[in-house]
Amino acid sequence: MKNVKHAKCVRCGRIYAAAPDLTSCACGGILDIVYDYDYIRSTFTKDDLAQRRDSTMWRFRELLPVEEDTPLPPLRVGGSPLYEADALAQELGLAKLYIKDDGINPTASLKDRASAMAVAKAREAGAQVIACSSTGNAASSLAGNAAAAGLSTYIFVPSRAPKGKVAQLMTFGATVVSVQGSYEDTFELSRAAIEKWGWYNRNAAINPYLSEGKKTVGLEIMEQLNWAAPDYIAVSVGDGCTIAGLWKGLKDLHAIGFIDRLPRLISVQAEGCCPLNRAIETGEDWRPMEENTLADSIAVGVPRNADKALMAIRESDGLTVNVSDQEIMAAQKLLGRRCGVFGEPAGVTGTAGLKKLCQAGRIPSDAVVVSVVTGSGLKDVANAIAACGEPISIPGDMALLEAAFRQAGIRA
Ligand SMILES: *Cc1c(COP(=O)(O)O)cnc(C)c1O
Ligand SMILES: [Zn+2]
Repeated sequence: MKNVKHAKCVRCGRIYAAAPDLTSCACGGILDIVYDYDYIRSTFTKDDLAQRRDSTMWRFRELLPVEEDTPLPPLRVGGSPLYEADALAQELGLAKLYIKDDGINPTASLKDRASAMAVAKAREAGAQVIACSSTGNAASSLAGNAAAAGLSTYIFVPSRAPKGKVAQLMTFGATVVSVQGSYEDTFELSRAAIEKWGWYNRNAAINPYLSEGKKTVGLEIMEQLNWAAPDYIAVSVGDGCTIAGLWKGLKDLHAIGFIDRLPRLISVQAEGCCPLNRAIETGEDWRPMEENTLADSIAVGVPRNADKALMAIRESDGLTVNVSDQEIMAAQKLLGRRCGVFGEPAGVTGTAGLKKLCQAGRIPSDAVVVSVVTGSGLKDVANAIAACGEPISIPGDMALLEAAFRQAGIRA
């Protein structure tokens, strides 16, 4: 890879050659992929990009850590819409608001960007089998992207994993091990099995290539905005891989001169599980927290990507905000009704936080803001019904319909 120099530990600074099967540093720190920006500047222009017909995440190949001859994974990952949400902007008192809907990815979450990268790197490593442990979206997206590429998967989930996500796993033909125990038990079993059988490891924050896949959401937002950086980008945070990846993408574009300033990040967590935001707010080291929220994808009490995530929030002079489950449910309804966008609870948490900051007067009214929706609501229909209500239920009779409308105060 001519565009990549090496990998570097974010904790101790140790340098590693950028092999396809890199894991974490000997010191336990996370690795970061370091690029040769001078080389990239000399080979990659905005005009090149504008000519390209590939609308997937791979249109940014010069900024991605893959070999030139690596076959690209088959599923259409990325290229998600950036909607102008004028009605919602007005309601929140913002000059301009955009919604980046990543729920439209093939397995319906932003995690596809990381999983597609994992599949590309597994192929470079000559691996036939990929494994991970996860409660949901990382698992289903790995299973789908691997299936399309002809690789097999071993997935470890805690037995409490939601049905919709397990259904995706079974459909994609993963070998699914449902562990009767906590998520920690699940993670430890996957670690031991990966070590014993030598599978390619797609565990978040152990594999440094995953956030390089996730950064493409930031690259896309900037191209869609014609390289005019917004003032803020709001995103939900669990392990911290997404916000760290987003920031990496923005910094890459700044380093090669595609954008001339950087947005401030808005890190949104659930009140019942906010170890990273708490660390920023108190200025202390992060400490584990209970996983007390309905937003299962960000119910991460022990964040695996804390170093990179905290660095991203601090470097961007970012804001933090924590939201209740009620506020998350309200945001689900709001995005559905104002924008026609259906997000899962963790998917709409960024917008919930943005709304809370606007109401508290913490965002200037002339600000341009992007809010990322990270996963589709179809993954978790029970919570959507709980947030938005049940339909009118009657037998097929016109008189009963009129009566029901009258009772509900509906004037058709
Ligand atoms: C994983 C996930 C997140 C958070 O990403 P992290 O990298 O864990 O911070 C947010 N929303 C959805 C829908 C997710 O699946
Ligand atoms: Zn180290």
